[in-house]
Order: sequence, then C-alpha cells, then structure tokens
Amino acid sequence: TQAHLDAIEAAKSLNAYVLVTPEKALEGAKAADARLAAGEAGPLEGIPIGVKDLFATEGVRTTACSRILENFVPSYESTVTANLWRDGAVHLGKLNNDEFAMGSANETSCFGPSVNPWRRTGSEVPLTSGGSSGGSSAAVAAGLCLGATATDTGGSIRQPAAFTGTVGIKPTYGRCSRWGTVAFASSLDQAGVITRTVRDSAILLRSIAGFDPKDSTSADRPVPDYEAAIGRSVKGLKIGIPKEYRVEGLSPEIDALWQRGADWLRDAGAEVVEVSLPHTSYALAVYYIVAPAEASSNLARYDGVRYGVRVPGKDIAELYENTRAAGFGREVKRRILIGTYVLSAGYYDAYYVKAQKIRTLIRQDFENVYASGVDAILTPATPTPAFGIGEKANASPVEMYLNDVFTVTVNMAGLPGLAVPAGLGAEGLPLGLQLIGRPFDEETLFALGEAIE
Ligand code: GLN
Repeated sequence: TQAHLDAIEAAKSLNAYVLVTPEKALEGAKAADARLAAGEAGPLEGIPIGVKDLFATEGVRTTACSRILENFVPSYESTVTANLWRDGAVHLGKLNNDEFAMGSANETSCFGPSVNPWRRTGSEVPLTSGGSSGGSSAAVAAGLCLGATATDTGGSIRQPAAFTGTVGIKPTYGRCSRWGTVAFASSLDQAGVITRTVRDSAILLRSIAGFDPKDSTSADRPVPDYEAAIGRSVKGLKIGIPKEYRVEGLSPEIDALWQRGADWLRDAGAEVVEVSLPHTSYALAVYYIVAPAEASSNLARYDGVRYGVRVPGKDIAELYENTRAAGFGREVKRRILIGTYVLSAGYYDAYYVKAQKIRTLIRQDFENVYASGVDAILTPATPTPAFGIGEKANASPVEMYLNDVFTVTVNMAGLPGLAVPAGLGAEGLPLGLQLIGRPFDEETLFALGEAIE
C-alpha cells in the first residue's frame, strides 16, 4: 500500500487520481495485516485498489468529476466497492473519469484529462488514456493500483483498457449491482474492472459481482469462480467474426491485429467463422439517442436542492437554472439537450421509440449468432490506438462518438465484453481486442482472453 501511495505521488502528472485517501489506505492495510496474521484473510486481503469517482464511497468525496457534485460526500457505500472492502481490498482513492462518464478521452472531467503513461515511439505528445474510465486505465497501466473499478455504458471500460495495454471486463448487464453508482444511462450502465492481467480481472469480478436486492435489475444467479476459467481449453469453441465490423476508418494495424487474434484462437484449437450482425451500422445513432434520453432523466435530480452545489436565484426556477448552468460541463449539457429533445412530445416516436425498436433488432442480431452455435465474438476494441489529448476536442462531437463503434452494441444487447491487450502497433502503442460473450458467460471470455494474452 505504501509503495502504491509513493507511486501515486511520483506520477501526479498523469492526473489519474482526483482524490488520494492515504490515511484510509494505511488503516486498511493495517487491518489486512491483522487479519492475515490471524489467518482470517479474505480473497483480496491487502490488495490496493483505485475507485472510479462514479462509485459512492462513504465519507469520501464522490464527484463523478462534475462541478455540480464537487462538495458531495456520500453517507453510504456503493455495493460494488462494499464488496471489495468486505473481501479485504484496500482503498487508495478516487480515480478520474469523464464528467458523469460521458466521453471517450477523459477530457470532459472537471479535473482535466487523465494522461496515458504510454507515448508514441520518439514522441513526447501526451496521449489520452481513454474514457470515460481514463483514471482507472492510467492508474492500472502506470502501477498506481493493482486494479481499479470502472463503469461501462458504451465502452468506458473496454476502450480505456485498449488504449493503455490493460485488461477491462464489462460484465453482463445485471451481474454487478448499480446501487450507489452515479447513474448515466440506467439500461446500459454496468460496473466492472480494469486490471493488468486477465486473471486479475477474473478475481476482482468475482468479488464485485452478485445479486443485490437494492438494484431491481441485478441478476439473482450464482457468481462462478471466474478464476477457474483461466487456463481452460478453448478447443472446439466457435468464434464469430462479424463482417459488419470491418468499418470505414478502421486503422490498418488494427485490422491486421484482428486477423492475428483470429489466428491465435485458431491455433489454440478454436473454430473461427464469419458471422453477420446486420444492424451494426445503426448502433451509434441508436446509442446516442437512448443514452442521452436516459441521462437527461437521471440528471434531473441535480437541481441544487437535494445534492451538491447550489447557486441561488430569485426564485426556485432560477435556482435550478443557475445551479445547472454553473454545475454541468458542455458535453453533459449537450447530452441533456439531445435527451430532452428526443423524449419531447412530437419527437418521441420519431427518435426515442424508433431507437428502442432498432435496439431490439441489434440484440436479436446477437441472439441469432449465438443460436447458430457461436460461443463468443471477436472484434477490435477500438478503431484506432490512443490519440493525442485535445486532438479530437476541436473536431465535431460526432468524431469522438465514432470511437465507440465496436463497444456500444454490447451494452445495448446487455452482453459481457472483455478487452485484452494484443500487442503493440507501429507507433509502439498498445492495441486491444474485444471478446463478446453470451449473457452471463464471462467465463468463456476469460478463457479466450487468457489464450490471447
Ligand atoms: N464514450 C461513450 C459516451 O460518451 C461511452 C461512455 C461510457 O461507457 N460511459 O457515452
């Protein structure tokens, strides 16, 4: 724990942590020592963990990296983090993320962007560690924690993992409780972890997963011993390669990596087949209707009355306006505007209802592929390696949204997705592959991920 606290101090320029809790960490480490000595160690005893600032942590400031929550200290603990502490993990502090998890480069955070510890060969240009869980990926990649919690609504675990050469698991919707996690788009949000190895992801997921009566969408089914899936043979597994994922803008090195990944799995005894997910081309458009719609509803609670910051006005309406104008950043406001628009009378059927129907078709695409006997799907995690901080900031927001082309479908279908590092590209940057599984079959993903890793 002390070594990690020292490393965090030395790597401040990465802006991975927005709050370090050294006293809490050392206290936790001491308690872990005592339990270890008494032979009462939990499965994560003494393991130092960083927590995305989207998880409510009792007595520890939780901001979602938004100005509107800059003074919010929860009186309760999220289920996911409570599960980690129950198992003996040590809390190092809170990690940077895009404001309310809206973004792909950690640039919408009110604390400024997190920085990728990787650089292009021969270049000092600072690169993004991805988003929205950019603090989690930077911290894990730089050795500032042994693992980090993260959340994924449209790719926020898998894309940052791919950009930093780390492993990220977004489990099946319902696997982990959303209780105490700041809500972005409730039908898509899912907690998970970013770690250095596939095995570490398996170990941490087992701790955070499980039924929680406080989340009505949490799944009441047993949590397997995911670690037991590591090293399991992948012989005979059928792996689908979706032809529609060969999108425009896919970098040639990522395309080549994808082929290599398929070869590795073939060499390990898997059967690789081409599959079709015909509604893929609508995925981004649908996601950027559904997610903002749910966000606009979820973010209505930040009104200056019940939570966080309050900016007074002459009456209650002006108090709302002043608070939200000062508290929310540009991207969050953009999402609220899009969301209220697509939900408003007159546009609801044209946008929101239509998007929901296409979401169903996207889910059915996956169901059809799995019904044909495919066990998992292999795709790139991102269309390009990590890009420079600010590089896309001046482009249209849509260019940033294009980053999510391979990841949003998985959230819309509620499926598990694993990002695994699969080597370095021409510029010396990590490249990641994504494995998509059947509902609640994270085990197959861990077995395949280990074969690639
Ligand atoms: N980049 C996507 C967005 O901005 C996904 C974010 C996420 O998964 N939280 O909405």
